[in-house]
Amino acid sequence: MAERPNIPRRPRRKRRTYNVRLVRRDLSYEIREIAELFSLHPQAVRRWQQRGLTPIDERRPLLFHGSEIIRFLSETQQGRKKSVPPGQIYCCACRAPRRPVNGVVEVHRRGRTKLILIGVCPECGTRLNRFGSIAKLPEYGNHFAVREAAPERLPARCDAVDKCHLAKETEHA
Ligand SMILES: [Zn+2]
Repeated sequence: MAERPNIPRRPRRKRRTYNVRLVRRDLSYEIREIAELFSLHPQAVRRWQQRGLTPIDERRPLLFHGSEIIRFLSETQQGRKKSVPPGQIYCCACRAPRRPVNGVVEVHRRGRTKLILIGVCPECGTRLNRFGSIAKLPEYGNHFAVREAAPERLPARCDAVDKCHLAKETEHA
């Protein structure tokens, strides 16, 4: 293809997040098929290849294993996400880490080892959720005013927590 140096570059758009769940782990894909899956130009997929997406072998058309596409997208999208500073929890509504109101988090135990820290966003009032482990309770005490929730007050629905968790970085608090 001929170069067209006089055409001004389009301004960089905000990077998209690709839903890896569209990819089937047990299938192999051609570049064209990957492009269709994510509504991309095949050239965009070739750029993924330059950035580390590895074909099964050199035979044409190039084939990419579903598990490799998932690995590539997960890793590149992971690296982009910002980490949450200690003493803060990611707010799904603000899309930013926030210090819970008064630094207070309620601890809801889930089973023997896990827990959820729940606070309130000072900016928007949304519930802040963060997964953690019971072993790290002393550490949370250094950053938050930790309140133990009574067992019967365990949140009945945790899907909001889970969705938020997927949206934010996979941080093991
Ligand atoms: Zn918020």
